[in-house]
Amino acid sequence: MNLKFSCDMMLYDVARWLRFLGYDTEYARYKRRDKSRIYLTSNEKLNDVFLLKHGSLSEKLLTLEKEFRIIENARPFTRCSICNIQLEEATENDIDNLPPFVKENFNSFRKCPKCGRLYWKGSHYGKMIEFLKNLFPDLLNL
Ligand SMILES: [Zn+2]
Repeated sequence: MNLKFSCDMMLYDVARWLRFLGYDTEYARYKRRDKSRIYLTSNEKLNDVFLLKHGSLSEKLLTLEKEFRIIENARPFTRCSICNIQLEEATENDIDNLPPFVKENFNSFRKCPKCGRLYWKGSHYGKMIEFLKNLFPDLLNL
């Protein structure tokens, strides 16, 4: 399944998580509706979009899993959380300036082809996975 989402301005945290999980996720004011995307909002006045009720981030992620199976089909560590673009394998050159500690302790590095940001499975990644494992103990096989 290759779902694509669009989050309205109230759902910054959800957009960030969907990108972390590997989903193509727009985060913008609604412009032209693109039929290939699922539109998420917390605005009860909007029609024709999926309403994510106000609540904690956990509640929102649970709702999205129930409705769209976002966790079962997740591909974390594949998309830039800023640019929403697929990451590429980083080259030796790309990681040259990283602190030695990072280079010694991690062996998989990815790079955003747009902003150049480097990604590795460090403590930030670990914390996010841990959060998901607590929320979806039976689903996550990462
Ligand atoms: Zn980027």
